Amino acid sequence: MPEAALDFADEPPEAQAARIAELNDRYRHHGATSVLQGALRDPQAGKLTLVSSFGAESVVLLHLVSVIDRRTPVLFIDTQMLFTETLVYQQELAERLGLEDIRIIRAADAAVAKEDPDGTLHQFDTDACCDLRKTRPLQTALKGFDGWITGRKRYQGTSRAALDFFEADGPDRIKVNPLAHWAPEDIRAYMDENRLPRHPLVAKGYPSIGCAPCTSPVAPGEDPRAGRWRGQDKNECGIHIVDGRVVRRSEPMNVIVTDAGFRQDDWQGNAVLDLASDTDPNTVDLSAAPGLIRVDFPSFADGRGFTIARQLRLRGYKGRLRAHGHVIADQYAMARRSGFDEVEIAPDLAARQPEAQWQFRADWQRGDYQSRLRG
Ligand code: SF4
Repeated sequence: MPEAALDFADEPPEAQAARIAELNDRYRHHGATSVLQGALRDPQAGKLTLVSSFGAESVVLLHLVSVIDRRTPVLFIDTQMLFTETLVYQQELAERLGLEDIRIIRAADAAVAKEDPDGTLHQFDTDACCDLRKTRPLQTALKGFDGWITGRKRYQGTSRAALDFFEADGPDRIKVNPLAHWAPEDIRAYMDENRLPRHPLVAKGYPSIGCAPCTSPVAPGEDPRAGRWRGQDKNECGIHIVDGRVVRRSEPMNVIVTDAGFRQDDWQGNAVLDLASDTDPNTVDLSAAPGLIRVDFPSFADGRGFTIARQLRLRGYKGRLRAHGHVIADQYAMARRSGFDEVEIAPDLAARQPEAQWQFRADWQRGDYQSRLRG
């Protein structure tokens, strides 16, 4: 860990975005161990903690951390709804790996007594229960850190398809995802090679393990996460911050397209000005505009969004311009020439129009007559 963590609390959004981009550039071609080792020592990453559920695959990151620096703080959220097997596994694993700074975090007693006195909240409002027992305790525990290490991976669904090693987590914290590029077979191979103990419930049909009331076994051929909140429209327990407000998010995150390809949104938690496609750009107060303006492109609409971007640039707007909505790969060059910096699309559109199509379009300057004139 860096000896003295940098204070990123008052870092402007543009500076945070630039710092994250630099970290991703620096570690772009590194493997998981190297990313983790670098992040734990890199002053630009700040003071980090590993957040672990001690679930089915957690042992991989816990082992990596124990090898690099066993004094790394590890946060374990005990929702008080966990399987007994998880609690036993947590203690045995921490001891076996020699982890020296395990911090067990729980919801405040007063909050539980008020909001879930009989422990049945999960039966009628799982979002509220996760908020009480996971999200808020984690947010409190993370206050002393500049960022946290997660075990999230790209293969875990379209919402994570563009996951980078480093990403923003609100305005003053980052997430580090060293295993972003790992496949399921990499996880299995790492466990085998290092003879790491499995969570005992994996052998009983639980490939993904959360709280006991919300986790059921998975049948052969089912999605590994099918047993989490089975039958409910919910697949994440975390929070998301929009315009400074904490909101729950269970829907997939959009994909951002830039000249460098797909990536996750690095602007989360920062102010955004959303403009509808029929906005008159001359009525927009640019003196009060935030660092990112997002222009909507509805399905089957004409190209008014391109005109809005062009006008905003002509009026001197220097912030980021993002085309948002039903923009297709064929329109990328036009969007860039109009003054947009990037495009935001839904995961299903990203799945139908993969990165390679957009990266080809990213060569937009070749068709830009102004660039050709400039030589
Ligand atoms: S997973 Fe279920 S029991 Fe656990 S915190 Fe969320 S709703 Fe509550």
